[in-house]
Amino acid sequence: MALERTFCIIKPDAVEKKKAGAILAFLEEAGFSILAAKRTHLTRAVAEGFYAVHSARPFFGELVEFMTRSPVFVVALEREDAVAHYRKVMGATDPAKAEANTIRKLYGGSVGENAVHGSDSLDNAKIEIAYFFPGNEVAPVAG
Ligand code: UDP
Repeated sequence: MALERTFCIIKPDAVEKKKAGAILAFLEEAGFSILAAKRTHLTRAVAEGFYAVHSARPFFGELVEFMTRSPVFVVALEREDAVAHYRKVMGATDPAKAEANTIRKLYGGSVGENAVHGSDSLDNAKIEIAYFFPGNEVAPVAG
């Protein structure tokens, strides 16, 4: 199986609770390499751009408020089958429904404040990594 990349945001709730390091350690234990990571405070424009696909959803305003509330970590990850595997270890959107020992079960608080974001497809992972790491911070995929 080929190496793949995916994209993670450690959301404001988890950073506020000082769980960013624990989440990065969890991801390394789960076999991911951290290709790039940076702490940033999302502006409204950046958050709205990132979540543009959700702009018509009723929770969009709340989501943008939350994501711009305090700093996040944006993280590019690499592993075999990275997109699917990260979705699995991240857990369901609602932490109450997430399986045991998933990031959202361990660190999420509610359906909105659920600790982490994870790309839902390889195409979106590429778009999301390029959105936050547009320069040469993440090396091009070999071959
Ligand atoms: N969200 C929310 N209310 C909802 C559904 C989603 O606030 O009823 C937020 C939540 O933070 C979620 C994000 O919007 O992580 C994106 O939603 P999506 O359905 O794409 O879930 P995910 O892929 O993050 O599990």
